[in-house]
Amino acid sequence: VPEVTVVGAGLAGSEAAWQLALRGVRVKLFEMRPRKYTPAHTTDKFAELVCSNSLGSNVEDTPAGILKNELRRFKSLVMQCADEHAVPAGRALAVDRESFSQCVTEKLRSHPMIEINCKEVEDLPDGLAIVATGPLTSESLASRLKEVVGEDFLYFFDAVAPIVTAESIDMSKAYRASRYGKGEDYINCPLTEEEYYAFWEELVSAERIPLKDFERDGKFFEGCMPVEVLAQRGKDTLRYGPMRPVGLEDPKDGKMPFAVVQLRQENKAGTMYNLVGFQTNLKWKEQERVLRMIPALKNAEFVRFGVMHRNIYVNAPKVLDGHLRLKARSNIYLAGQITGVEGYVESTAMGLVAGINAACQARGLSLPLWPMETAIGSLMNHLSEERPHGFQPMNMNLGLFPPLGERIKDRSQRLARHAERAKRALEAFLAENKMLVIEKD
Ligand code: FAD
Repeated sequence: VPEVTVVGAGLAGSEAAWQLALRGVRVKLFEMRPRKYTPAHTTDKFAELVCSNSLGSNVEDTPAGILKNELRRFKSLVMQCADEHAVPAGRALAVDRESFSQCVTEKLRSHPMIEINCKEVEDLPDGLAIVATGPLTSESLASRLKEVVGEDFLYFFDAVAPIVTAESIDMSKAYRASRYGKGEDYINCPLTEEEYYAFWEELVSAERIPLKDFERDGKFFEGCMPVEVLAQRGKDTLRYGPMRPVGLEDPKDGKMPFAVVQLRQENKAGTMYNLVGFQTNLKWKEQERVLRMIPALKNAEFVRFGVMHRNIYVNAPKVLDGHLRLKARSNIYLAGQITGVEGYVESTAMGLVAGINAACQARGLSLPLWPMETAIGSLMNHLSEERPHGFQPMNMNLGLFPPLGERIKDRSQRLARHAERAKRALEAFLAENKMLVIEKD
């Protein structure tokens, strides 16, 4: 019987172990808790939810809902326990965190194909293995991984600027230009003097997310100061920094605006744009409120808010091979948040894929290619696509799906079309890869 080692019994590792066991592969699962804790975990249970007890939208037609249904289609352990231990939360799927983690723990502990070891793994295993040690991977393993993937491709801190959908930018109030007339790569959102100072007032006084003890360490912030902290230095500091208008004359009248927010293309398809230099630690509702004061972003749809937090992850397009395997070590898969996705369900999804792929490899089968139109495939694509301005971790969102090929103005109709297309693509994929379908537990 083939055997695979799984390191970390968080959301991704638990799901990966389950998917392997479902496919008749023996699993050696290593989890360091309760012998050693991360700075955020507090229990000895598997798949502990370290913060919110919500797994996000459960509405079928939303990107997060599509992802959940795809996981259910593969008999996901995390989804099964989440559905069993759901608590009322409107259209979201929230869980009783204790009974949810208890459920995952019991199912893994009682599975005859899974052997559990309470131990910190300090080096990459020799045989076929999945590393799912999360955003707070223990230090020794993180430094080992850094040696293997290369100094520049493992990150310890996330300082992310918000991202908006291209179609929600009001182009009648913005213009394309690169600084000093060198092309048209950026979308520029101008502000008048009055608009700029009103924006500044709100930016410096908006509510911030309190940092956790282990995040307060100043060294994480080197070179990536939150825009609101920079703004605090003076009323005009941003006009000499990220909102500098020099060389960005408005082609409509040839004049230089008082201040400019630049938007940079985020993905190949051009469906998403990020706000250049706007990494922020403001509360999400506040980001929405304050950034919508920028005239061209009045109706902006945010696919990702800015965050600043401790997060260990790799530059996936550089170090992974498109199947979640390290290019430098074809016996090692990464899974979960460390791959460069973000969120409970996204991490689970990358555990599911790693589990399925490692099971295929263990059995000498070729590895499946997930269709990009599915939510899982769109996340896999995010981890494979080289970007000119660097890689950023992402939650599941509409901008990850390939464009529909037609413009549908109504958002709910657009969502429905994506959901319908994803469903069709998944069923076609399963019809072609019958060995992936599991009929019974
Ligand atoms: P984890 O769930 O963290 O699992 C990793 C496991 O590996 C842990 O059990 C850990 O003990 C173990 N481990 C680590 N190193 C070793 C080792 N060397 N040997 C053996 N075991 C090891 N996402 C959301 O969707 N909503 C939120 O509210 C949310 N809040 C977050 C708050 C914080 C403070 C952090 C850090 C992240 C948060 N996230 C949130 C992001 C992310 O979705 C979760 O961190 C998620 O748990 C990631 O899943 P994972 O399986 O990749 O890692």
